[in-house]
Amino acid sequence: MGEEPFRSGFVALLGRPNVGKSTLLNRILGQKIAIVSPKPQTTRNRIRGIHNLPDAQIIFVDTPGIHDPKKDLNRAMVRSAREAAVDADAVVLLISAAEPWREDDELGLELIRAQAKPRLLVINKVDLVPRLEALPIIERAAGLELFAEIVPLSARTGENVDRFVQAAARQLPESPALFPPDTITDQAERFWAGEVVREKLIMHTQEELPYTTAVTVESFEETDKLIRIRALILVERESQKGIVIGRGGSLLKKVGTEARRDLESFLGSKVFLELFVRVEKDWWRNPASWNPS
Ligand code: GDP
Ligand code: MG
Repeated sequence: MGEEPFRSGFVALLGRPNVGKSTLLNRILGQKIAIVSPKPQTTRNRIRGIHNLPDAQIIFVDTPGIHDPKKDLNRAMVRSAREAAVDADAVVLLISAAEPWREDDELGLELIRAQAKPRLLVINKVDLVPRLEALPIIERAAGLELFAEIVPLSARTGENVDRFVQAAARQLPESPALFPPDTITDQAERFWAGEVVREKLIMHTQEELPYTTAVTVESFEETDKLIRIRALILVERESQKGIVIGRGGSLLKKVGTEARRDLESFLGSKVFLELFVRVEKDWWRNPASWNPS
């Protein structure tokens, strides 16, 4: 018997907002790399996490949630998800065992049906339902004859996540590792700086701040003593600017302090973080705002 060949490639995680794409990615990578939020749609840019196994390297691509493309912003997010699927070697559709096959799940299904490449189905959140309730979901999925494998799991508890990772690795082409083996993401540090600021903003503004808010890192300068980061928060309306700044600048200050602390431990260096807020209507129509680099 010969040895198993080494495999490497891209695996896109797709699904409607809130099914647990980012939670699954974080669980696999064992550290916080994608923002997880009880509110949908917090992954605006594509986040790539690299998972290294003895016989495979999987580059997981997290995508914005697929849903109702009637609104322009949603359309842009669906486009981004579709592009990730087109670029990937294998595609994974996530659904939730607690709320399976909703309208937006069907949208995701159509999207991956159009991809002539290995497809996997993850039925997430099995911790929320009695075991027997998962069976009809699996049966329906098997009946579609679309999926190379169907894996019920819980991204939250970790149950069956290993099985999913093995299944994903099996779908990849034979190839040497595409990235050095100690890499966990191919995103630049400045990308993470923006993500951390965005996470704090979302945490502290609750329902008030819509998802049409972006953070772009204008400059990222390393000296031997500290890293100086200037980040720009883009909002769509003057009223949103007020929310982000807060009374007497209090909210922006809190966001800045917490983001700086996280960045200092993430980057292992002292950080000087400057935040600015600008009103820019329809900023998201400009593709450059989507991928701060
Ligand atoms: P995304 O929008 O698909 O990236 O979803 P997130 O990963 O941000 O998760 C959305 C919400 O679902 C968060 O509150 C997660 O904690 C929760 N969640 C994710 N996976 C599971 C799971 O396996 N079980 C349970 N009970 N909750 C989960
Ligand atoms: Mg997400």
